[in-house]
Amino acid sequence: MDMAASKSNGSASGRDLDVVVIGAGFAGLAALHQLRDRMNYSVRAIEAGSAAGGTWYWNRYPGARCDVESMQYSLSISPEVEQEWSWTERFATQGEILDYTQFLVDRLDLAKDIDFNTRVASAVYDESDDSWTVTTEGGDSYRCRWLIMAAGPLSTPNVPDFPGLDSFQGEFYHTGAWPKDQISFAGKRVAQIGTGSSGVQIAQEISKDAAKHFVLQRTAHHIIPAGNRPLHPGEQEEVKARYPELRKFWQTLLGATFYQSLPTDPPLVPGDKSIFDVAPAERQKIFDAAWNYGGYGFQRAFTDVLKTIDASVLAGDYIASKIREKVKDPQTAEKLISSQYFGTKRVIIDKNYYDIFNQDNVELVDVKGDPIDKITPTGIQLQSGRQIDVDTIVCATGFDALTGALTRMDIRGRGGSLLRDVWKEGPESHLGLMVSGFPGMFIIGGPQSCSALANVITANEQQVDWICECITYLDEKGFTSIEPDSQAQADWVEHVNELADATIYTKGDSWYTGANIDGKPRGFLLYVGGYPNYKAACDEIASKGYDGFRLEKAKELT
Ligand code: NAP
Repeated sequence: MDMAASKSNGSASGRDLDVVVIGAGFAGLAALHQLRDRMNYSVRAIEAGSAAGGTWYWNRYPGARCDVESMQYSLSISPEVEQEWSWTERFATQGEILDYTQFLVDRLDLAKDIDFNTRVASAVYDESDDSWTVTTEGGDSYRCRWLIMAAGPLSTPNVPDFPGLDSFQGEFYHTGAWPKDQISFAGKRVAQIGTGSSGVQIAQEISKDAAKHFVLQRTAHHIIPAGNRPLHPGEQEEVKARYPELRKFWQTLLGATFYQSLPTDPPLVPGDKSIFDVAPAERQKIFDAAWNYGGYGFQRAFTDVLKTIDASVLAGDYIASKIREKVKDPQTAEKLISSQYFGTKRVIIDKNYYDIFNQDNVELVDVKGDPIDKITPTGIQLQSGRQIDVDTIVCATGFDALTGALTRMDIRGRGGSLLRDVWKEGPESHLGLMVSGFPGMFIIGGPQSCSALANVITANEQQVDWICECITYLDEKGFTSIEPDSQAQADWVEHVNELADATIYTKGDSWYTGANIDGKPRGFLLYVGGYPNYKAACDEIASKGYDGFRLEKAKELT
């Protein structure tokens, strides 16, 4: 088959394709739709789950809910489709989002081009014809000209290597790979390990009816109210009527998201003042308004709470005062107050996490002061010798973020080099989109892109659009390969690190820095310069004929 000429209508009849997309979460669905229906390429998506949804497919733990407002958490794929779906709450549940992804799959007729229940084992680049061969764990293979990695920034669960884990005789779950069957905590003794976003959400469900609920906390995170509620009448219609204008406006904001539908005093606008430019009483009023309204307006209320230590400390102090008001036992309250700078770990939005610590069946266990020593057949033993006997252990211990989904596959680029080896000292990419030595392989939600620091759906769509334009350009000009110039890539990585160093994000341990995984190289994994600047950088490079990338034609075509 003449691969360069294989652009064809509809889905591929065989296994030789223009594009293979790995993953059918929002990124993969958007890529499949755009490349197949807008650009008429032959495309196949490969998905490990039995249905689409990515993170929302795997994270079906009780209490799972999005932290981006539902009216902004949708693909802008077409003016018709975005009008057809209706949300019920300000922040959607996992179940509703999964229904939305299924709606997209049905509405856009995507399932016929997705191989479900299929996990990719390897992707190998062939220099002789600039193709990629993707092989599944089941042994099937696909050959393509362009490869799109849409395997998710937070999709590889981290199960710490606790000694004795295999000996545990009770039930064991990880929030990021939750079973489809309903799991009951009623009357059970349950230990949860981890108090990040997943842990905070599931804790409120476990504590409802567990006989005893041990919350094993290593580090207290910062938690602010979500202010979740049903969407009020007219709210959804108003946003839908203004979608084009609002989506454009959101894209001018750092996180590509913000909407205030109810009035507050003062109004919540992404702050244009330093926290030190206002008197303490005014600061309190602004924080109160953001706190009561709920959502991430709190961390954007001033320009500097995510930038400087002094400003971040004031935000942390405000939250500490709220915890002391809520939690009756003063010792528990103090343990729940984070000693991290506000914003170093992802700030969590939530409903009533702090309230559960006023219940008799809930105990906060400090596993920084008294770390987990081992798992035993009946529970968890701490280094002090304390044995916590339980029926169920829930690990809410997060993910091998941004790189895990890629390094667990055998991805071989030029000269057979393995991506996992190339990234041994930490990931390097250009724009988070491509890696030097891996021609024709595009990444969505990769390290050194905005990804989870912005409305991730908007960030995904922006990258999909960039990739589509890039492939169109290459095909029109007859190029068969593209990869970053290694100097341009090094410059981008340096730029990303410089931006991060000038913020609060690097002043503590988190999955942003790789610190949550034993042995993972440290380095800031995301672009913190904000969505608009990231998009501008990508657009500028494209407008200059992919400046900083090496474009080549196959030998027989030159
Ligand atoms: P996470 O934020 O990385 O939290 C993991 C938790 O497990 C932390 O409390 C961590 O403690 C603890 N932990 C890890 N290893 C441990 C060990 N060996 N012993 C004791 N504790 C250990 O993971 P996550 O909660 O799954 O959230 C990850 C990201 O996914 C979030 O930041 C967010 O971006 C996304 N997410 C979003 C939502 C939402 O939209 N609402 C919901 C869930 C997840 P340390 O802090 O001390 O490391």
